[in-house]
Amino acid sequence: MRQPLVAGNWKLNGSLSSISELISGIREQLLTVNNAELAVCPPYIYLSHVQELLEGVNISLGAQDCSDQESGAYTGEVAAAMIKEFGCKYIIIGHSERRHIYGDTNDTVATKFAHVVKNGLTPILCVGETLEEREEGHTEVVISKQINAVLDLFGVEAFRKAVIAYEPVWAIGTGQVATPAQAQEVHEEIRLTLDAQNKDIAANIRILYGGSMKPENAKELLQQPDIDGGLIGGAALKADDFIGIALAAN
Ligand code: PEP
Repeated sequence: MRQPLVAGNWKLNGSLSSISELISGIREQLLTVNNAELAVCPPYIYLSHVQELLEGVNISLGAQDCSDQESGAYTGEVAAAMIKEFGCKYIIIGHSERRHIYGDTNDTVATKFAHVVKNGLTPILCVGETLEEREEGHTEVVISKQINAVLDLFGVEAFRKAVIAYEPVWAIGTGQVATPAQAQEVHEEIRLTLDAQNKDIAANIRILYGGSMKPENAKELLQQPDIDGGLIGGAALKADDFIGIALAAN
């Protein structure tokens, strides 16, 4: 039985005070959520602040990325081992903004994935096609390359504790959500790719949908058999919307 995961990716947003307000808004409504696991992924600099705010609260903490290096002369980088010290359970890697704005390749993402797993944390591996790739009929190829980059290097066992997020690039922050059928089709393909190598891992891995998910469209998406939660951007910045999505998983 896969417990739905609703994870908020706050991206480059927030301040000490707005984050305190957001967490308290989420906490006020937390008891209404009886099925999904909730997680929030603030910018690195706020991890310690959010860790304190979440003490004794049933919400997991995550980071939005990590370095592909362990330590050393890499100015501006943050290592998975450092993130672990701040009580994080998850690290998002391969988000399309990291891939497209900051140049993370499939190989870089695979290396980051390995660092996350090695440190005992759970990677949320983001995959997804651009609009052009979808229109040219390349969705399946793009996504299998993104998954295979990890599978080929580290094997299917690396996915035992992982989460995958299918995030069509054309749906992120655009208000143009994938239809439940479009999303389900890709989620099923991802599960089948893993199933070919290990049935148990495929059956248990959570595959989240991400891309303009809102309380209004969450229920239909979350009802799909292979959609096990959501990675939420914009709507995660408002307590009511974030909880609204989590309630859709009840
Ligand atoms: C995201 O960036 O992971 C995301 C899903 O963003 P949004 O919900 O704003 O589309």
